Amino acid sequence: MTNIIYFNYFTDGSVNIADHDLSIFFDPPHLLKGLRNNFLNKDIIWEEKTASWKDIEFIFDLDSKLGHTRALPKLTAHHVDRQKIKKMKVSVAAQVFSARTAAMLKYTNALNYFHTANSDATMATTAEVVEFFDTLFDSVNGYPGGVQRGKLRRAVKQNSQHHTFWIEAINKIKKMVFVDTSSKHATKAGKPRLVRVPSQQGWITTLESFIRVSKLLFEQYNVEYYYPRNINQDPLENFFGRIRAINYRNVNPDANTFIYAFKSLMLSNMLSPHSKFSNCEEDNGETLLNVSLLFKNLHNNKENDSENTVSISRDLPSSSQASSREKLLVNDVVMEKIKVHCSAYTAGYICRKITRAIRCKDCIKTYISSTETNIHSYIKFREYKLLKNNNLAYPNEKFLILYRDGTHFIHNYLNYSCIGSNIKSNLKRKILSTLSFSCLGCDKHALIVKNFFTNILIRLHGHNWCNINNKILKGDIDEKYVSKMGEPQKLALKKYKSLRLRKKCLSK
Ligand SMILES: [Zn+2]
Repeated sequence: MTNIIYFNYFTDGSVNIADHDLSIFFDPPHLLKGLRNNFLNKDIIWEEKTASWKDIEFIFDLDSKLGHTRALPKLTAHHVDRQKIKKMKVSVAAQVFSARTAAMLKYTNALNYFHTANSDATMATTAEVVEFFDTLFDSVNGYPGGVQRGKLRRAVKQNSQHHTFWIEAINKIKKMVFVDTSSKHATKAGKPRLVRVPSQQGWITTLESFIRVSKLLFEQYNVEYYYPRNINQDPLENFFGRIRAINYRNVNPDANTFIYAFKSLMLSNMLSPHSKFSNCEEDNGETLLNVSLLFKNLHNNKENDSENTVSISRDLPSSSQASSREKLLVNDVVMEKIKVHCSAYTAGYICRKITRAIRCKDCIKTYISSTETNIHSYIKFREYKLLKNNNLAYPNEKFLILYRDGTHFIHNYLNYSCIGSNIKSNLKRKILSTLSFSCLGCDKHALIVKNFFTNILIRLHGHNWCNINNKILKGDIDEKYVSKMGEPQKLALKKYKSLRLRKKCLSK
């Protein structure tokens, strides 16, 4: 890209090479990483307010304390911790800048506001910035199969929302400023410097090119739609990879050998669309939420709120009480509340599965709440903007308790009897004989619903249990969280530590 200076550079940002008008695209995944890397050690001034990476660290820590039912299960220390972050992987940056993260930031801020009556200085702004980066990346990352309703990750059409978003986004990026406190210049001057980072110009150039190319495709070539992900570096990287591979030693071809290599590639029809999305995002983050919705709800329900929380948090395990001895940044009541809210979201998911499988109105009444209560405030954050028929279910209190008891039972059982045969059928028998299912299902379907529910729960949390252990084995869960878990998890951490030590010794 440094070479563009030698070509005809037009004021609209396009270039002319050998009579061809060309638009410049920087690779969006790299641009996203650029923003993330700067955000790690610089606050962002966003519409005259400050956003900070510390808020993301805060909610990550909060979420990690939730135990097995987390709101941000995809995030690990490799996403958030400045020291441990995997700087090269695109998916890591994309998963942090997700609708889920923004939802958790807004939710936490709203909860904080409700309990302390003052809003955190930066958290709401951080949520806005995360949401913007998520939409920004989505808008240039649509691909067939990756389309999600209510999001910009979709094909660009003449009348799609991409065009207005891109114009707005260019303005926002132009106004965005980073606060540099740690560079040489800043420490020398003894005060923070307001800076713009190269990724910002990269985004502006790229979005302007998208606008220009879209216009050309729709107006001049009557294209109906295109997927913007096709304009990133992957096809180019694949192409060069093939050029290099064509001749064993063809690692540094000159113009001539390159042309021959290209021709022979075409002839041998090797230029098949090979996609390697290994370095691209896999995030399924949901669409976002308006914070005012929750504020309203929280205030309306202020009186019966404590009642709701207490009646359910009675059943919380002792592990959550252990955390009270720690110096928590949020108080325990809030922590308990978040646990209940987040498990209500997963419980709601199971409710929808049951409804779809059984399709009985009398059964639904036994597990779905007829009124919305404060327990559902996190669910509401996740569902806002989603389309009507996509609505999440609001489980009732009895179902939530059953869900909570069931999940604890499974995690405890697996912690003590994860070695052996017929684990699943033994576990199922135990659950059915221990927990009370009397509230679940109508007279006609009680047995079916009970079986169905238990099966899903075991599958979901059996998988969850393995997942947690695997994460610990990879070093993805910090010791301070593992120390509050069961024996197998502690064992996994020990294993991880000894392996890491051995690796270190070997590499020395
Ligand atoms: Zn029924």
